[in-house]
Amino acid sequence: MTDSVLIVGAGPVGLAMALELARYRVPVRIVDAMTERSTTSRAVAIWPRTLELLERTGGGLSDELVARGNKVTVVNILSGPTRLARVELGDVDTPYPFALMLPQSVTERILLEHLERRGVRPELGVSLTGFAQDDEGVSATLRHADGRREDTRHSAMVGCDGAHSPVRHHLGLSFEGDTLGSDWAQGDFHLSGMPFPVDEFATCLHADGPAVLFPLAPGRYRVIAGLGPSTDEVAPPPTLAGFQALLDRRGPGGIVLHDTLWTTSFRINERQVERYRVGRVFLAGDAAHVHSPAGGQGMNTGMQDAVNLAWKLALVLRGLATSPRLLDSYDPERRAVGAEVIALSGRLTRLATLKNPIARQIRNAVMPFVIGLAPVRGAIEGALTETTVHYPESPLNGVSWEAGRRAGERVPPVAGETPYGAGDTPRFTLRVGASAGTPPPALRLPGDLVDPGVRPDPVASGIELIRPDGYLAMAVADGEWDQVNSYLRRLGAG
Ligand SMILES: Cc1cc2nc3c(=O)[nH]c(=O)nc-3n(C[C@H](O)[C@H](O)[C@H](O)COP(=O)(O)OP(=O)(O)OC[C@H]3O[C@@H](n4cnc5c(N)ncnc54)[C@H](O)[C@@H]3O)c2cc1C
Repeated sequence: MTDSVLIVGAGPVGLAMALELARYRVPVRIVDAMTERSTTSRAVAIWPRTLELLERTGGGLSDELVARGNKVTVVNILSGPTRLARVELGDVDTPYPFALMLPQSVTERILLEHLERRGVRPELGVSLTGFAQDDEGVSATLRHADGRREDTRHSAMVGCDGAHSPVRHHLGLSFEGDTLGSDWAQGDFHLSGMPFPVDEFATCLHADGPAVLFPLAPGRYRVIAGLGPSTDEVAPPPTLAGFQALLDRRGPGGIVLHDTLWTTSFRINERQVERYRVGRVFLAGDAAHVHSPAGGQGMNTGMQDAVNLAWKLALVLRGLATSPRLLDSYDPERRAVGAEVIALSGRLTRLATLKNPIARQIRNAVMPFVIGLAPVRGAIEGALTETTVHYPESPLNGVSWEAGRRAGERVPPVAGETPYGAGDTPRFTLRVGASAGTPPPALRLPGDLVDPGVRPDPVASGIELIRPDGYLAMAVADGEWDQVNSYLRRLGAG
């Protein structure tokens, strides 16, 4: 029996999973049925929280993604030429206060290069055809492109195998939810006449359905448009002339599409798997949740699933922690987040596709006022950027000190500091106020679990224990080091 992990699927989620495990020195094998990688753009938005979490991986990963993408800082909501609302993303407390527009194919290529630098190469043309698990591990059967069958054994398996997930099917898990009754089209185009600079989105609301323009680069945009109620087959995507007519009718005017890079059409599914974990088998990404592309959260939520699971698996498989609560926490933490993302993207879709003319009039009249309210704007920014994702009900949450952040909340990275959870071992970080002092030497905190470099906080008081993924594990008042020690020891380290 090895202590390695089999990752099924080398899309963005499988690649992120492999990268996190590899840098935490867990042996991984990553296989994918595809024989060559897709070159289409697909998901085009990377949100700040994903960049914060990927930066922990090291090697300047997020900086490289940022250097290759287009930073968008403003979301405009329009009705014809009238601007109903303007939401600025620059207010969010993050080193990455923007939406990064980058084709999924480029994101995958950069993840792949970083993974290969760590000595892991995804095996393409290798399909999972079956598996069984026992108390000790997972036995999987693989089929190679040349027809060869291989039996392999691992400590755990992660199904990052997409919306039609064979792993999920094999586990017999339900994937409850709905298919919305409308068809959509999207495409990437070269265009001119856009009335906004290249760092601004435009969502055009219209009685026929919305049209959304995402700036990929100067003069190059992703257009997503509702096509109306579904019939039997998914409607084919419009031609260039069709997209042009659609923008002429719904857009602010003056936009001219020049040539098509790529188009597709789709239906929106809103579904979530009943359990993210069955024993030693885990599900992440589209295998666990699919939803409307409104808000562009799909790929981001999936990569954050991977980040959440990787440090817990690494601690357990490397024998640094033994508490069952670690792996048990993956399902409740990420299922709650997935449900919120499905609800949010569904609300945005329904708001943008209101059929009733009176409801539309009210929406358009009320929107400037409501979005003008600072708390509403803050809530929208937080949800879109995923910087308000947190784990209030996590079984890993320790005590919260009434004067500070609550356990489960995100602790924003501090510019210029090493990110929480960086390095080759997942360690918790201590952040202490000026009057909290340092841990008494006699306490002997479990060194494998906690970074020896205690970080000062000149403004706050008290002691914060921060998880390797940058969420607050627990917080206590000055001097309560015993509580920190017993939290860490409860995770099962010596
Ligand atoms: C046409 C299109 C447009 C999209 N547009 C957007 C968008 O605008 N915004 C957005 O947020 N999202 C968009 N998405 C969704 C986004 O691409 C997904 O959320 C994202 O790819 C999920 O990543 P994943 O790694 O979970 O799954 P996937 O990228 O689907 O990867 C799963 C991998 O598993 C492999 N696999 C499956 N079965 C097996 C098996 N038995 N053995 C081995 N390997 C297997 C597959 O070959 C695949 O490579 C789009 C998707 C598509 C298809």
